[in-house]
Amino acid sequence: MTVSINSIKKGIVIDHIKAGHGIKVYNYLGLDKVDFTVALIKNAPSNKQNKKDIIKIENAMNIDFTVLGLIDPTMTINIIENESIKEKIKLSIPKKVEDVIKCKNPRCVTSVEKNIPHIFLLFDEEKLEYRCQYCDEVYTFSEV
Ligand SMILES: [Zn+2]
Repeated sequence: MTVSINSIKKGIVIDHIKAGHGIKVYNYLGLDKVDFTVALIKNAPSNKQNKKDIIKIENAMNIDFTVLGLIDPTMTINIIENESIKEKIKLSIPKKVEDVIKCKNPRCVTSVEKNIPHIFLLFDEEKLEYRCQYCDEVYTFSEV
């Protein structure tokens, strides 16, 4: 069966997700809780990657694409309107992430004071290593 992007009228197709990562993206976006049509396609054949996951969202949903770049910057996001691709969004690894990952250092100011945003800055792009802006606690994103 060929799964075509054009089978949705209006919405978002997240393509070229590494095989196995689809569920991660799905959970991250909270797609288990929405009431519109969502499809998670696993292990679809791909020329580029051998196998890939695809998520189709039949709704104009507001997605924080920055964060998706953290999960997997090789994904592509297609915004669909009138059954065709209106816009393609390329992801990149964000330099700064806010309230995505939480600092685990019990002595960090974010642990002591509840109203402070958890801000992490990119430290090593190769290793996806981030450091807490306040205490330098290291966080490697592949842990997620
Ligand atoms: Zn910290």
